[in-house]
Amino acid sequence: AGTLHVVATPIGNLSDLSPRAVATLREVDAVCAEDTRRSRQLLAHHGIERPLVALHEHNEAEAADQLVARMAAGESLALVSDAGTPLVSDPGFRLVRAARRAGIRVSPVPGPSALIAGLSVAGLPSDRFVFEGFLPAKSAARRQRLLQLAGETRTLVFYESSHRIEAALGDMAAIFGGERQAVVARELTKLFETVLDGSLDELLARLAGDANQRKGEFVVLVHGAAGDADAAVVEGRRLYAVLQQHLP
Ligand code: SAM
Repeated sequence: AGTLHVVATPIGNLSDLSPRAVATLREVDAVCAEDTRRSRQLLAHHGIERPLVALHEHNEAEAADQLVARMAAGESLALVSDAGTPLVSDPGFRLVRAARRAGIRVSPVPGPSALIAGLSVAGLPSDRFVFEGFLPAKSAARRQRLLQLAGETRTLVFYESSHRIEAALGDMAAIFGGERQAVVARELTKLFETVLDGSLDELLARLAGDANQRKGEFVVLVHGAAGDADAAVVEGRRLYAVLQQHLP
């Protein structure tokens, strides 16, 4: 049987594709990609020409079985996503699970991920952290999720888009308290890379006053709750937020 190579790709800077990723992408029978046009550009940039197979949220369940059959018959495939590491807030989980269940070797070619890149420059405690990915799009559901995280003592890591960055920081300040320390890491490895730190209130003011700081892709990292001393404050805030949701 063949192998499924799970290959990380750049999160902005095209030179971050590792030599082993290039060699792997060159040697496989086909590359499974979230957006075949985008991945074709990346491959072309590195002079690689391989057949591409679309594998995204909407077809992954059906496509997985066919792809596993191809690997069982001896083909080796690579899995890439649009940016960073597949399966990290990206498709691939179903394919990897199906391949493993079928006894196919699944091997990583590790590399960039915005999560780890953000954590590595934030200057927040990084020995333990919680990756929350994207928060819900609607404010009520988002606040509900944040409430469940208000007492978490580990560093919290979120992904956010330019559409919602301000609203999400606002909800974080409301639920965690505006004085909680946080870091907004924007456009990592790209031209406008910016890493801002401060309290949630300070970061909100910074973004509100500068439209450029609301553009691009974001990792938001929030200091964990300060343990027992904070517990009563957090509980008070949690109750207040619950009450607020029931008021007109
Ligand atoms: N699989 C990717 C990874 O390993 O980082 C994440 C894919 S997820 C669909 C895209 C989100 O990742 C963006 O909305 C943003 O929150 C974050 N992201 C991706 N590239 C980034 C960058 N260069 N700087 C900051 N955040 C980034």
